[in-house]
Amino acid sequence: MSSDRRGRVAQARPQGGWGGRHRSCRSDAARRSGTASGSLLALTLFTGCHLERRPPATPADLVLRDGVVWTAEPERPWAQAVAVREGRLVYVGDDAGVERFVGGGTQVVELAGKMVLPGFGDTHAHPLSGGLELGECNLYEARTPAEVEGAIHAYADAHPELPWVRGNGWQLPVFPGANPSRAILDRVVPDRPAFFYAADGHSAWVNSRALALAGITRETPDPPGGRIERDPRTGEPSGTLREAATGLVSRLLPPYTPEARIGAVRRALAEANRFGITSITDADVGAEYLDAYLAVDARNELTARVTVALRDHEDVPLDSMVGLVRAMRDRARLATRVRAGTVKLYADGVLEARTAALLAPYLDRPGDTGPLVYPPEALAERILRFDREGFQVHVHAIGDRAIRVTLDALARARESNPARDARPVLAHIELFDPADLPRFRALGVVASFQPYWAQRDEYISDLTEPALGPARSRWLYPIGSMLASGAVVAGGSDWTVSTLNPLDAIEVAITRHGLNLPTATAWLPEERADLPRMLAAYTINAAWAQHGSLVAGKLADLIVLDRDLFTLPATELHQAKVLLTLLEGRPVWRDSTFAQTLR
Ligand SMILES: [Zn+2]
Repeated sequence: MSSDRRGRVAQARPQGGWGGRHRSCRSDAARRSGTASGSLLALTLFTGCHLERRPPATPADLVLRDGVVWTAEPERPWAQAVAVREGRLVYVGDDAGVERFVGGGTQVVELAGKMVLPGFGDTHAHPLSGGLELGECNLYEARTPAEVEGAIHAYADAHPELPWVRGNGWQLPVFPGANPSRAILDRVVPDRPAFFYAADGHSAWVNSRALALAGITRETPDPPGGRIERDPRTGEPSGTLREAATGLVSRLLPPYTPEARIGAVRRALAEANRFGITSITDADVGAEYLDAYLAVDARNELTARVTVALRDHEDVPLDSMVGLVRAMRDRARLATRVRAGTVKLYADGVLEARTAALLAPYLDRPGDTGPLVYPPEALAERILRFDREGFQVHVHAIGDRAIRVTLDALARARESNPARDARPVLAHIELFDPADLPRFRALGVVASFQPYWAQRDEYISDLTEPALGPARSRWLYPIGSMLASGAVVAGGSDWTVSTLNPLDAIEVAITRHGLNLPTATAWLPEERADLPRMLAAYTINAAWAQHGSLVAGKLADLIVLDRDLFTLPATELHQAKVLLTLLEGRPVWRDSTFAQTLR
């Protein structure tokens, strides 16, 4: 069943412009919905419909009707109405058929053409650490020194109880030389130490109290791999620390408490719900993070399903590591919305820092192909073992060599271990040797792209292309080729690295350029994706990657959008807004402009 569904999702190719396709599909669906029953839909995201000329059904709790419902089911993608009872879908079909589910106690929401989709899934993100950031002073949007100062002032005033004022996201260009002075921070936060990471995480800005606590003076030498910025006249530390020098102060920051982590889970999932996300993979989880997720789950207050990818540590021997992840998986056995059956491994680093593992040298570093985290033998041994222990593996692989050796390891696991429904995930997958593309489908590997990165921004033009040259750069983010290969392609954000909004990423996958650039040209246009398959990447294929399809079964995880995505130019997809997010039929997000009051 599963491989069948996977194949069909992957092969559902649109023909021509999606506008025309859309209309014919929808009328097809309306025609056929009267007789369809027990389709694959029934086993996955929506239940099948058995309707018309039947006696009234047990009334539903909630009915959404007069909508544009896209089901993620290639055989029957369109409907008008859904009915939900006890958190489960009991009907998907046309408006006429939903009438028999309307009773005295049923809430009926008239959608007037708004769009309904399955809830989005994000297959690679960092919600807990993102939630911690959200709880601190956030400077990402501040565009002038005055705005930065104002934001810090407001935050410090609102949190007199905090021993440190800490935050994130100051933009390098806001300050001359990307070099903010401690004098500003001393003025705004005179009473406590203050610490602010820059938006790129490679610099930090601190006040005089923080420098004094760390013992940093004009005599302190720069640490290896770091720089203490100094006043050119006096030689005194000026307040900005680069790279390893940030650690001189960050090691003094108070550790996060269990309560802080629990608060971070709630904040992050609320943020995800705003964008219609109902399931998310936390790609870097240790015991403390797992505790936080389980604590919120135990109170039945998780507002999204969470797949936790338990972090493998290369400095821990394999036997010990297996013991650790098995113990964590056992602790999560009774959780309702947390699944802890995944292990996260790193195969390599990142292209921008020349730490991704390549098949040929970086052009700007003769002879250097970048390091693998594990020698291929050791990676294979670890993957083989985790797989044999019943874990799904989720591997960070960015360079073409990292992708190849990981696929080699997965192929060996498949040969050596008993057959099982493993669904391994490769995440990021930025640079390919095209020979490896078909191996994803052949080996049943999920391709978890971060499609927002598939645009020629400065990360590509300044930091990547010069190291690869045009021929190899052709195989950066080949999402279109991967879709054509028939592999399961799933979407992910890597939030807070990039936007959490799936519609932003879906738009970039289709346009291959940045948002709000309607006249821009596509980068590698042959790799453009299309809307139906990108929606599948963020719904049914994400559920597949998260082993959610059977568990989520008929659960009513649904979203309502303010407009029909299939009627929009691709460059406007990111403007669509999620009005309502339902988890098991209950609202976890409702936009203030959405008038319906839901219980
Ligand atoms: Zn990540």
